[in-house]
Amino acid sequence: MSEQAETTRAATMDKIVALSKRRGFVYPGSDIYGGLANTWDFGPLGVELRNNIKQLWWRNFVQKRRDMVGLDAGILMHPRVWEASGHVVNFNDPLVDCKTCKARFRADHLLEDKLGIENAEAMSPDEMSAIIREKNLACPNCGNRTLTDARQFNMMFSTTIGPVSESANKVYLRPETAQGIFVQYKNLINTQRVKLPFGVGQIGKAFRNEITPGNFIFRVLEFEQMEIEYFVKPDEAPEKFDEWVQAMQQWIDLIGLKPEHVRVREHAKEELSHYSARTIDYEYLFPGSMGWKELYGLANRTDFDLRQHQEHSGEDLRFFDQAANERYLPYVIEPTFGVDRTFLTVMVDAYDEEETVDVNGKADKRTVLRLAPRLAPYKAAILPLAKKPELTKVAWELFETIQDETGALVDYDETANIGKRYRRQDEIGTPFCVTVDFDTLEDGAVTIRDRDTMDQQRVPMSEVSAMLAERIR
Ligand code: ATP
Repeated sequence: MSEQAETTRAATMDKIVALSKRRGFVYPGSDIYGGLANTWDFGPLGVELRNNIKQLWWRNFVQKRRDMVGLDAGILMHPRVWEASGHVVNFNDPLVDCKTCKARFRADHLLEDKLGIENAEAMSPDEMSAIIREKNLACPNCGNRTLTDARQFNMMFSTTIGPVSESANKVYLRPETAQGIFVQYKNLINTQRVKLPFGVGQIGKAFRNEITPGNFIFRVLEFEQMEIEYFVKPDEAPEKFDEWVQAMQQWIDLIGLKPEHVRVREHAKEELSHYSARTIDYEYLFPGSMGWKELYGLANRTDFDLRQHQEHSGEDLRFFDQAANERYLPYVIEPTFGVDRTFLTVMVDAYDEEETVDVNGKADKRTVLRLAPRLAPYKAAILPLAKKPELTKVAWELFETIQDETGALVDYDETANIGKRYRRQDEIGTPFCVTVDFDTLEDGAVTIRDRDTMDQQRVPMSEVSAMLAERIR
C-alpha cells in the first residue's frame, strides 16, 4: 500500500499562479471587478505562509541576536524625509510611451529584453533614447515604431493629509522601510543600551508606482520589506558587509532554497545607487524567460542617510563612542529582503510534479510543494480513514491535542478517499499526514505519512506531538 515516485523541475509561473489561486494562497486583487494590475490578495494559506516567513525572519535576525533591536515605523512620514533621502530627486524609472497604443514601458527593461543589453539601468535617459532611435525599436505591444524618448518618472505614490488636496499637505507612501529607521535613529540610541555595531530590524509595507508588469507577485505596487540597518564604525564597514553576506546565505539555507538556484551578483561601479559604496544582490533563477532576478540586496550605504538627515533636520546624529572618546556618524550596512519575493521564490523552488503509483498500485501523477516544514502553512493534517463516528471522534481529539501541544497549525479533512486527501495536502505543502484507522481503536497508534518520501510509519498517538515538534523546527 505505498506510493512511489520519479521527479524533474516542473515549475512554471503559470502553474504557480494557478495553484496559488486554486488552493487559496494568492488571489488576483479586486478579482470580481476584473482585477487591478499588479495587485494581489493573500488567501487563507497565503497569509499563513507569509506569517511564517516573517516570524522566522524576525526570530532569526532580531530576537536571537544580541546586537539587534526591532522597530515598526509608520507608512506616512514628513515629506522632508524624502527630500533628505534623495527619493524626490532620484527615485525614478526611465519611461517610454508608445504614441500609437499608449502602452508604457521601462526603457532599461526594453533595452535589456529586446536588445540583450546588460545593466541598461546604469545608462542615462538620453543614452537610452539614443539607442531606441538608432535601432528604431518597435513597441512590444502593437509593433509600431512610435516609441517616445525615455523620461524620468518618480515612483513614489503621493496622497494628501486633510480634506483639501493642497500641495502643502502632500505626503508620500513610503517606497522603502529603511528611512523610518534613520529618522528614529536618535531616539533609538538615546533610549536603548546600544553600542556599535548594532542593527535595527523592521518589517512593513512599502509602495512603488512600478510600470513594468509584475511576473505575478515578483514586482507589485504594494509589498512588504524585511529590512535591517546595521550601524558600524566606518572603518569596520567592509568586514561587517562580509559578515552579512554570510548571514544572508544562512537565511537562504533556512528557507530551504536549492543552492543551484541562487547566486550572488556584485554591482558594477556605474550601477551603484547614489548612496552606496558597495552592493551585491542575491539572485534567484526563476523558471522560463524570467531567468536570474534580484531576490535580496545588501548595500554599504556609508553615512549617506544619517548625514543627509542631520543636515536637513538640524539634529546632531553623531554617535558618541565612549571607548574612543569621539563623536562620528556610523556607516550603515543594509541587508534587505522582500516578503513577497521570498514567498514567490519558496513556492517556485518547492513546486514539483511526480509520476507516482497510488495507494491501489495504479499509475498516478502528483503535484507536491516541498516547502521547508518550518514555512509550510499546515504542519500536519489529521485524516480519519473513513467518515465513521468512532474514527472521527478520535481524529478530532488528536487534532486538538497536537495543536495545543505543538502550537502548530494543523488541518483536518474527512472528505473524499484517502488518496485524494493525500494529493490535496501534497499540493499545499503539508509535510505530514496523520491517518486514524480502525486499528487505531485497538492499538492507539496512527500512521504518519511523509510528504516528500511518501513513506509511512506507525506511531503511538502519545508520541505524535513530540515527533512533529522535532521535524518542523
Ligand atoms: P528591482 O531592481 O527589482 O526593482 P530594487 O533594487 O529597486 O529592486 P530594493 O530597493 O533594493 O529593490 O528593494 C529591496 C527588496 O524589496 C528587493 O530586494 C525585493 O526583494 C523587494 N522589492 C523591491 N521592489 C519590489 C516590488 N515592486 N515588488 C515586490 N518586492 C519588491
